[in-house]
Amino acid sequence: MTNADLLARSLAAVWHPCTQMKRHETLPLVPIARGAGVWLYDFNGKRYLDAVSSWWVNLFGHCNPRINAAITDQLGKLEHVMLAGFTHEPVVALSERLAQLAPAGLGHCFYASDGASATEIALKMSAHYWRNQGKPQKTSFISLQNSYHGETLGALSVTDVALFRDAYGALLKQNATVTSPDWRNAGAGESAEDFALRCSSQLEAHLQQHHDSIAAFIIEPLVQGAAGMAMYHPVYLQRARQLCDQYEVHLIADEIAVGMGRTGTMFACEQASPLSLALSPKGRGNENSGTLPSPAGGRGAGGEGRGITPDFLLISKGISGGYLPLSVVMTTDEIYQVFYADEVARGFLHSHSYTGNPLACRAALATLDIFAQDDVLNTNYSKAAYFNRIAAPLREYHKVRNFRNTGMIWAFEVESPHVDFAQRCFALALQQELLLRPMGNTVYFMPPYVIGEEEMQMLVERTLGIVEALT
Ligand SMILES: *Cc1c(COP(=O)(O)O)cnc(C)c1O
Repeated sequence: MTNADLLARSLAAVWHPCTQMKRHETLPLVPIARGAGVWLYDFNGKRYLDAVSSWWVNLFGHCNPRINAAITDQLGKLEHVMLAGFTHEPVVALSERLAQLAPAGLGHCFYASDGASATEIALKMSAHYWRNQGKPQKTSFISLQNSYHGETLGALSVTDVALFRDAYGALLKQNATVTSPDWRNAGAGESAEDFALRCSSQLEAHLQQHHDSIAAFIIEPLVQGAAGMAMYHPVYLQRARQLCDQYEVHLIADEIAVGMGRTGTMFACEQASPLSLALSPKGRGNENSGTLPSPAGGRGAGGEGRGITPDFLLISKGISGGYLPLSVVMTTDEIYQVFYADEVARGFLHSHSYTGNPLACRAALATLDIFAQDDVLNTNYSKAAYFNRIAAPLREYHKVRNFRNTGMIWAFEVESPHVDFAQRCFALALQQELLLRPMGNTVYFMPPYVIGEEEMQMLVERTLGIVEALT
């Protein structure tokens, strides 16, 4: 196989996702033959540092020996069995371990394969819960401006990204959005925290008026990924939890991108801070500071008055280490019990062929083993601090705006005269052995957790060079 062979055959036979295929007349596909650690290689041995974790899924590098071994072991035992009426060890073990790791009270796991399906399941479960409770009019949902929760029709109806939505608007249920606490939109002199509180007042006004018809509020905790890594103050999560309780609306935490340690704690919801514990007077939250929660203090939701428990927690992407499609919807016993009855129709009705696939569950269990064995959250804390130090030249570059960091996510906007900045940046990065995939003028890093210091230096130095060339 050569690079050229693969490209020609791919363009003839494969319809690639999120792509205007005609673009590939001028912008070549990138052929990948193999991966190892943070590196991807083509058929000539040319390498790329995977700074976006292959669409935010990879945690411990490509071809990780420990995850490979777990999947290989499982292959020799059981590749798959249906989960309706049957059960198996990997799905049970994974459910038990997730219940221990997640915010307290989320003891029931429902499985699917992709993130969008997890969103669909949570929306259906929420509306069905209210129907079982004699409130069948609670069928609408709210989400944040610029939210992203997947692209199947239900998930797209709570996704607020015009590019993904516009062509399909006629197919979607109309759901409302509320102002995003994204601190880039704070007023002059307004802190990230004050802005988050102001946005939560708007949420309150909306709930006050419409709660009778609203089933759930769905939110990406701390970082809105597809909005361009928009970050916001954790006090918003605390207020959202209080308001949803007050107005009898479910809170769905979509941690598909931010879960599994990405924001510094295992789940972002753990960082929701009550007002009284918020940072120093007029604390500016995440703004420009590269603030990281101390992993010791941030862990253990519920304890120490920190963290919130959503009604539904959605996990996917990193859960299998980036190996196999797997998603989970975790929920509370209170919700579970409302479906537990003699009538079939009161039960939750959602079927998916590959629910709880044993190979994917083993990959997830191996991933959780690595978190424990390598003390990953603490190690990441040090790595992120190192990265923030060496990123100073990038943060201070005069055409870079809003440099920000949460856990193992970094992002900034580039003031560039090029309208096609994202494409140019992507192409220049490839020449420099980097896989970057800017969203508009926002460049972000979301590297696998196994990235080393030399690789971080290379990432910063070369990205700065690319930014200089494009400004
Ligand atoms: C990626 C993502 C999804 C959708 O997951 P898929 O597996 O791509 O369907 C949903 N929500 C968030 C926050 C995501 O980042």
